[in-house]
Amino acid sequence: MVASSYDFVIVGAGIVGLTVASELRHHHPRAHIAILDKEAMPGMHASGRNSGVLHSGIYYSSDTLKARVCAEGGRRMIEFAKEEKIPYSQCGKLILATAEEQLPTIEKLLDNAKENRIPAERIDQQQLSEIEPFAAKGPAAIYCPTTTVIDSLAVVKRLREKLEQQGVTFLFHTKVLRRTQKNEIETTRGAVRFDFLYNCAGAYADRIAGIFGLAKDYALVPFKGIYWKLNETATPKIRANIYPVPDVSLPFLGVHLTRVISGDVYVGPTAIPALGRENYGKIKGIKASEAIGIGVRLTNMYLRNKNHFRKMAHREMAKYRKRNFLFAARELLPSLNSEDMVSTPKAGIRPQLVNIKTGKLKMDYILEKTDNSLHVLNAISPAFTSSFAFAERIVEESRVV
Ligand SMILES: Cc1cc2nc3c(=O)[nH]c(=O)nc-3n(C[C@H](O)[C@H](O)[C@H](O)COP(=O)(O)OP(=O)(O)OC[C@H]3O[C@@H](n4cnc5c(N)ncnc54)[C@H](O)[C@@H]3O)c2cc1C
Repeated sequence: MVASSYDFVIVGAGIVGLTVASELRHHHPRAHIAILDKEAMPGMHASGRNSGVLHSGIYYSSDTLKARVCAEGGRRMIEFAKEEKIPYSQCGKLILATAEEQLPTIEKLLDNAKENRIPAERIDQQQLSEIEPFAAKGPAAIYCPTTTVIDSLAVVKRLREKLEQQGVTFLFHTKVLRRTQKNEIETTRGAVRFDFLYNCAGAYADRIAGIFGLAKDYALVPFKGIYWKLNETATPKIRANIYPVPDVSLPFLGVHLTRVISGDVYVGPTAIPALGRENYGKIKGIKASEAIGIGVRLTNMYLRNKNHFRKMAHREMAKYRKRNFLFAARELLPSLNSEDMVSTPKAGIRPQLVNIKTGKLKMDYILEKTDNSLHVLNAISPAFTSSFAFAERIVEESRVV
């Protein structure tokens, strides 16, 4: 069979792959561009299973790639949503300290905001009550007015339509298996040749990088994010977004309350160590072949206890029980009762890279490349928010423009 051949091949039709295609099309109006995905449509994994929050960027130190692309990415996604009439709401967000020991982190977040020029202010109890009347009253709170919620899947769908109109080829049900020649990969639907390949494969990006001889310093560990939803009685208690003060040594933001575009309020997500890259259910999505490797990595991390992994794992695993989940949510919304929270099937996986030598979780995005490929590793939160600005960096970095 003759291999199909393209100037640019992108592996992964999540938000990163789609925005990279859009950026390439902008610079190369006549190039042959193909996006390959093993699924039947775009956004079947992290990009269609997230909280749908466009983050302000306050969590990231100014020396990180995340800081450089988050706020700008968010602005560009809002522009896209405006142009394409995609529902979004710039509703703002509260970050609530619930204990005195979180005050240094509050100061650190305000410093980040200043350095990254992100609108954010420390507010008093009176302002807090006006913004979110039912929120817990702790020792400090920050208000971020630019935080926005958006319909993530609507963004992904519209991007696909636009790219198709611009002549980008989508090859679905096409899983990349191996590299057969320097510029050729074998997929479940035959060979595909490329001049340049972008690996935007999310939870499998380390594997694709591996077939190019890269990502040698890292191992991937999946963390599961599950959500509950508030019932009709409790939903009016939340106007927009209430987040806890995060542990800045971890890449997770903690269980939060978010009023999404539909008006529903979700509580979550967790960051429970999982045994599969697609382990969305309790045991569904666990494959024996990968579970053993992941189990060994998790045990190793537990024993080395970097990033306070042991404490974090215990705390997160406990959230499989509703009682413990409720306990975390009550820190932010004290009047919440067990019957206010209803279960939902909403779940996502954060494919988190760990440095094999140090045992530490990687906090920032990572780009690795060869002369004919670029690999987006660790595209964890806020990669959805960052995507348009991140894609510009990715294409710049590949030196094809
Ligand atoms: C629970 C949760 C909540 C989050 N909340 C937010 C938030 O509020 N705001 C925010 O900015 N970010 C959030 N994120 C992070 C954000 O969703 C991700 O960073 C982003 O979606 C990553 O996009 P991606 O394109 O890299 O990956 P994905 O969307 O996972 O896309 C990767 C694609 O590659 C395909 N693929 C994989 N392997 C192969 C292969 N071998 N061959 C062919 N195709 C392949 C997959 O099918 C998939 O479609 C959240 C993530 C989770 C899990």
